[in-house]
Amino acid sequence: QCITHCPVGALRERDDTAKVMRAIEDPEVITVVQIAPAVRTAWGENLGLSPEEATVNRLAGAFRQLGVDYVFDTSFSADLTIMEEGSEFLHRLKAGDLARYPMFTSCCPGWVRFVKSQFPQLVGQLSTSKSPQQMFGAVVKSYFAQKLGVPPEKICCISVMPCLAKKTECDLPTMKGDSGCKDVDFALTTREVVRMIRAEHIDVAHIPETPFDRILNDYTGAGVIFGATGGVMEAALRSAYFLVTGENPPVDAFRDVRDSGLAGERQWREATFEIQGTPVRAAVVSGLGNTRALCRALLNGQVHYDFVEVMACPGGCAGGGGQPIHCDDKERAFTRGQVLYGLDQGMAVRFSHENQDVQALYRDYLEAPLSHRAERLLHTDHTAWDMP
Ligand code: SF4
Repeated sequence: QCITHCPVGALRERDDTAKVMRAIEDPEVITVVQIAPAVRTAWGENLGLSPEEATVNRLAGAFRQLGVDYVFDTSFSADLTIMEEGSEFLHRLKAGDLARYPMFTSCCPGWVRFVKSQFPQLVGQLSTSKSPQQMFGAVVKSYFAQKLGVPPEKICCISVMPCLAKKTECDLPTMKGDSGCKDVDFALTTREVVRMIRAEHIDVAHIPETPFDRILNDYTGAGVIFGATGGVMEAALRSAYFLVTGENPPVDAFRDVRDSGLAGERQWREATFEIQGTPVRAAVVSGLGNTRALCRALLNGQVHYDFVEVMACPGGCAGGGGQPIHCDDKERAFTRGQVLYGLDQGMAVRFSHENQDVQALYRDYLEAPLSHRAERLLHTDHTAWDMP
């Protein structure tokens, strides 16, 4: 059995499984689970399931068996994040805000904490868009609660993440709606979910695959690749191109930002794309050592980019700190990331702006990306809290 906490017992992962089970068993509470894109690449690894068997819809089935009321895919709000972040990028590019330093993605709380403590002069360059986890919670506690006709306090939003930093992200004082309710009540890691499945003696191999619930269930290939390094950048560029030109680019036009899996690759990847005559210089980095090198190069003026994606874990969320641990020391982030790109290739819709449920959400509730309501619900102020 691998040790998943500090060997001297000084540091332990926070385990939220008992609190989540209490919420599920409480008949007064409506439980809503969201499953992050990267979880589907790994949740079956320690349960004896093959990658073909360990589908995200089978995991949805496991949650229904546990007694959860609604199950959704965070890929939905990954598409929503693209709508907000892509629009924000174009707005900041046009406003000349990126003349010196780029806009950074902000969906990785490990990176947000790193930049706040190590390079505070760059905090203003973070996208203000909340992460998909937080956007999902914000939509569930407002739009979805309204559709159900219940107050947001009645809903317990539980996320399943490949990540430990998501636990602290959902506890931030800024991650609340107008009612004062937390967007997300509990963030479980993939490992915690595996423990819950085992504790409840659920025979996952025989659980039927079940679809996600309406009305937040549509997701695209662009949302799915969020779980791999380069995925957020690629998804954002696909939709930024559409927002500028009114036409879709060839869907794989931005594949140069993907991880090649080759050893000895540079500390970060870069590519320049032209969108209606405007060059967009993009860079993608994962792992905090590489990120430190990139931040230094930016501050020294050695490199210049317009848009940078940062993921704290090497290989992105597919290799996240909350994913199953194996004793063979084999790095699985790249192979898991390839699973996500394979899923993207096979999907009928691969552009976030074509997500039907996201379009309905804007039509019925948010009006437009960066609208007043979207700013209140889906954006945050990274300077409004201090690092402990
Ligand atoms: Fe969490 Fe790691 Fe993904 Fe960042 S890269 S969101 S720290 S799993």
